[in-house]
Amino acid sequence: MYVYIRTRMFLMELKLFTFIFLIKRKATKTIKRPFSNNNKIPCDAILLTAGCGLMELRWDPIMAQWIIVSGKRGKRPLLPEGYCPFCPGSKEVPEKGWTVLSLPNAFPALSPNPPLPDVGGDRLYRSMSSKGVCEVLIYTPRHDACLADLTVENVRAVVDLWTQRFEELGKRDYLKYVFIFENKGRIIGVTLDHPHGQLYAFPFIPPIIQKELTNSRKYWKRTGTCLFCRIMEKEIKESSRVVCENGDFVCFLPFFAHWPYGVHIYPKRHVTALTDLEDKEKTSFAQILKTVLRKFENLFNMSFPYMMVLHQRPTDGKSYPYYHFHVEFYPPLREKNKVKYFASVESGSGTVTFDYTPEMKAQELRDTPST
Ligand SMILES: [Zn+2]
Ligand SMILES: [Zn+2]
Ligand SMILES: [Zn+2]
Repeated sequence: MYVYIRTRMFLMELKLFTFIFLIKRKATKTIKRPFSNNNKIPCDAILLTAGCGLMELRWDPIMAQWIIVSGKRGKRPLLPEGYCPFCPGSKEVPEKGWTVLSLPNAFPALSPNPPLPDVGGDRLYRSMSSKGVCEVLIYTPRHDACLADLTVENVRAVVDLWTQRFEELGKRDYLKYVFIFENKGRIIGVTLDHPHGQLYAFPFIPPIIQKELTNSRKYWKRTGTCLFCRIMEKEIKESSRVVCENGDFVCFLPFFAHWPYGVHIYPKRHVTALTDLEDKEKTSFAQILKTVLRKFENLFNMSFPYMMVLHQRPTDGKSYPYYHFHVEFYPPLREKNKVKYFASVESGSGTVTFDYTPEMKAQELRDTPST
């Protein structure tokens, strides 16, 4: 009897294995044809067969991190002059009745239903499906504005949208991290002027967050306290790098700043994500955001380019009592019309060079009006 059951199980496993193998082979066959050198064939026409439609995560075993590969995104079309897909009445955007809006990204790098990966089963060159979510977060129906121009009430609506998207996507078990961010300015490569941010919800914890988690956990274990809380206390005490603060939040250029105007915003209470904030704190958050952004706009009397990222706890169901929610800015300018390049030393050795002092730059921002 035992032998019979074992034999049956073996045969079933064999069938299943053959089935999976055939499916995989079929999928690989469709995607794996070589790229065409014939420039006359438009990419869209050969998307799935020539690899342009390839979409997968590839593991970098040297840096121990996932790379998002999407053949299609590089070929996304340029929008017609004067057309804005985020203005009221455009394709998916309602004419009326909204202040803020989240939309699926039209050219996502990650998708809830991604194709099968092209490469599989190799222990060295691992790949996995690009399963995730990419959304566009529209800040206002007004086309001709930026986050800094909006009222505190409108910025608060943006904070509520961030919170709502974090909460909702965080519940999906295939999403381990909800990364909310904004790229602003042509210099960062933004082509759409309508004020908006984005989110990438990853099926993994991204490496920078992982590094922050590892180090803050070590500190927590060693001292029993939060690394971020200690940094914030020290910055407030020393005050030379504080740009502004209110009852619930503080903005400073850290002692160890990476970018000339790379300020951080911390909630004064130890919270791990937006969802932990109380109603009053969310309004304080909107207020300090507006103050910082106004200072940025006034600094050089120009539309100030930046990358802004929200660092919250992962959403993988585990507990992260040692993490502390915060916002980081990476503005690419070091002076008016002078760019800070993350060149060879930064990109190739991972070492940051700071050509001023954080105290100097914090002073400049402190002295800039926020009106
Ligand atoms: Zn618009
Ligand atoms: Zn803390
Ligand atoms: Zn951070």
